[in-house]
Amino acid sequence: MPDPTYKYGERDVPDMSRRELVPGQGRIAGYLAVLLGGMSVAGVLCFRYPTIFTTAELRATYDVGMIRVLLWVCIWGALGFGMFNLARWMHRRKAAAGVALSLAALALGGASVEAGAVAPTKMSIGLDFLLISVLSSGALYVVLEKLFPRYPGQVILRPGWRLDAGYFVVNHLLIGLFLFVGNSFAPAAFGWAVNARFQTFLQALPLPAQVLIVLMAADFVQYWVHRAYHEVPVLWKLHAVHHSAEHLDWLAGSRTHLVQVLIDRSLVMVPLYLLGPDKAALDAYVVIAAIQAVGVHANLSWGFGPLKYLLVTPQFHHWHHSSDRPAIDTNYAVHLPLWDALFGTYHMPDAHWPIAYGTVKPIPRTMAGQFIYPFVPESEPTAPS
Ligand SMILES: [Zn+2]
Repeated sequence: MPDPTYKYGERDVPDMSRRELVPGQGRIAGYLAVLLGGMSVAGVLCFRYPTIFTTAELRATYDVGMIRVLLWVCIWGALGFGMFNLARWMHRRKAAAGVALSLAALALGGASVEAGAVAPTKMSIGLDFLLISVLSSGALYVVLEKLFPRYPGQVILRPGWRLDAGYFVVNHLLIGLFLFVGNSFAPAAFGWAVNARFQTFLQALPLPAQVLIVLMAADFVQYWVHRAYHEVPVLWKLHAVHHSAEHLDWLAGSRTHLVQVLIDRSLVMVPLYLLGPDKAALDAYVVIAAIQAVGVHANLSWGFGPLKYLLVTPQFHHWHHSSDRPAIDTNYAVHLPLWDALFGTYHMPDAHWPIAYGTVKPIPRTMAGQFIYPFVPESEPTAPS
C-alpha cells in the first residue's frame, strides 16, 4: 500500500549517453567479438572435458547437434566481428582478443571437436550452465529491456555492469558446489522429518496443485530467511551486497554474496525435500524460480495487470531494492506477494516506481571488497538498508 506521508516521485536516471552502444562506432562489434570468442573457447572446453566443465543435471537436457551449430556461430561470429573491427582499425584490443579466442577455439577442435568421455563426479564447474544462461536469459532480457524498458535512459552497459557480470560468471561456474551443498543439507539435517505417507498423498495431487504447494512452501521459507537478512544486523551485511546495485536490470540480480547463495540454496531445499513432489512439479518450480529470479530485477515496464497480486513482478521487487523511506524492509517474497500481505511487509504503490535504489550506507564496489565486507567488524553499528 502507498505511504500517505511520503511524496513519491520519478527516478532521475543519470546521463548514460556516453555508455550507449551506438552502431558504427565499433564498440558493439568489439564487445560481440570478445563475448562470442570467450563463449567459443568455453564451448569447446565443455565438449573436450565434460567431466570437469559440464553439469550432470544439465547434460541430460541438451541437444548436442544444436549446441554444435551454436558453437560454430560463436566461433565464426567472433572471428568475423574481430576482423571487421581490425579492418576498420576500431576498438582493436577487443577485436584482437575476439580473433585470438576464436582461433584458440578452432585450434582446440572447433565446432566439430570430439566429445570427451564422461566420468562420474560429485562436483563440476558449471561452464555449460553459464553458456546456456548467457544464450537464454541474457539474450532474451537484453532484447526485452530494449523493447519495454521502465527506464529508457538506462543503457545495457550501465554503471556497475562489470561487477554484476563478474558475479553472473562466478555464481554460474559454482553451480556444482551450490547443488552439492544444497542437496546434502536437507537430508542430513531433516532426514528424520520425512513422512512417506504424506509424500505419497502429495504426489497423488494434480500437477498444478503440487506446483502451487511447492511455490508456497519454498517462498514461505525464503520470506523468513530474507526477512532475517534485513532485520538481523550481522546478516544484513551479507545481504547488503545484493542490495548495493544502484541500477537494476536482468544482470543486477546476480550480485549476491557466495555465502548467501550457499545459505539460500540449502534452506530452500528443505521444504522441497520434505514435500517430495513429482519430478515434473519440481522441474516446473525450477523453471518458474529461474525466470522470476532474473525477471524481477529486470528494467522492464510490464505491470502484469491483476497478476501482480498473485506473483512477484519487477515493480514489486524493484520496490524491495529501493532506498526510498517507505520501501525499506518491505516486499521480501520471491514468488508470491501473499506472504508480505499476510505478515505486514507489503509495499506496492501501484502508480509509482522507486526514486532511488541501493543501500543507504555505501559498501565496497569490488567483488573482493564485497566478499570480505560482511566479515570485517565496523566501529559503528550498521542498520538495515
Ligand atoms: Zn533483500
